[in-house]
Amino acid sequence: MTVASPLQFRHIQDAAKRIAGVAHRTPVLTSKTANALAGAELFFKCENFQRVGAFKFRGAYNALSQFTEAQRKAGVVSFSSGNHAQAIGLASRLLNIPALVLMPHDAPQTKITATREYGAEVQTYNRYTEDREAIGRDLAERRGMTLIPSYDHPDVICGQGTAALELFEEVGQLDVLLVCLGGGGLLAGSALAASGASPQCEVIGVEPALGNDGQQSFRAGKIIHIPVPDTIADGAKVTHVGEHNFPIFQQHVKDIVTVDDAQLISTMKFFAERMKIVVEPTGCLGAAAALQQAYPIAGKRVGVIVSGGNVDLPVLSQLLA
Ligand SMILES: *Cc1c(COP(=O)(O)O)cnc(C)c1O
Repeated sequence: MTVASPLQFRHIQDAAKRIAGVAHRTPVLTSKTANALAGAELFFKCENFQRVGAFKFRGAYNALSQFTEAQRKAGVVSFSSGNHAQAIGLASRLLNIPALVLMPHDAPQTKITATREYGAEVQTYNRYTEDREAIGRDLAERRGMTLIPSYDHPDVICGQGTAALELFEEVGQLDVLLVCLGGGGLLAGSALAASGASPQCEVIGVEPALGNDGQQSFRAGKIIHIPVPDTIADGAKVTHVGEHNFPIFQQHVKDIVTVDDAQLISTMKFFAERMKIVVEPTGCLGAAAALQQAYPIAGKRVGVIVSGGNVDLPVLSQLLA
């Protein structure tokens, strides 16, 4: 059995105060065409317009802004397939904290370059043969740096939950909220936000079909580990959900569903063609579930977190071709 999470709705509200004026309050877009396709009223919370192009800035800034003086001096270490790296890069620069980020050697080049440009030191590792968590812990110990992982951390979870909180503040109560699921920072935070701001809302996690460890874990009642999944949703290429995150799923998440890569590609096309926005494959998970009925939403008011828009242009043009 997992232990119940101490995190609550008020922790999301506290995080919202910390990031206010620093993170963008991203727009909520609607589309009559999307509504017709889904047979529901959809509200897209567009975190592709967040600073660094993804919601990850919320959690990173919420975590780093609470560092003590000694932690600020020694710096932050992190590991990430991309967007969390950029988020740590920007948040650390804004707060004047040295940062070291471990990134997989095959992460999108735009994400590696952007992280360096924000001022973080980047070290690459092989995601198939090396254990990034062990490398991160080792670096944290040797250099006295504080490790801020991309999802398995209370302050990260609470920062991520502020996107859903803003969505509820803007559009009111919802029947269903569809949230992309990688390691579960966004899903856990969104579920906590819903628990206070729209308690009747069914919060649904959406994973790539080939990386459905979260769904397996949810059904088994314990965290299941899988090999690195083969999917174009690079932000959801995780092998297991977080230990801080999973108890929150058990308490506040209604279900976890999956969509396949072909559905992600057609959703990227929909966003580009009909809504004129660039959304990365992982960012399409929630919308793909809505547009392709992976969860019953007919006639309902449905929130969709569009989590990010960072995709290499050659990859984008190839996927859209
Ligand atoms: C990190 C990320 C996710 C998954 O978030 P988790 O908190 O790890 O579940 C989804 N979409 C994008 C764009 C991301 O960067």
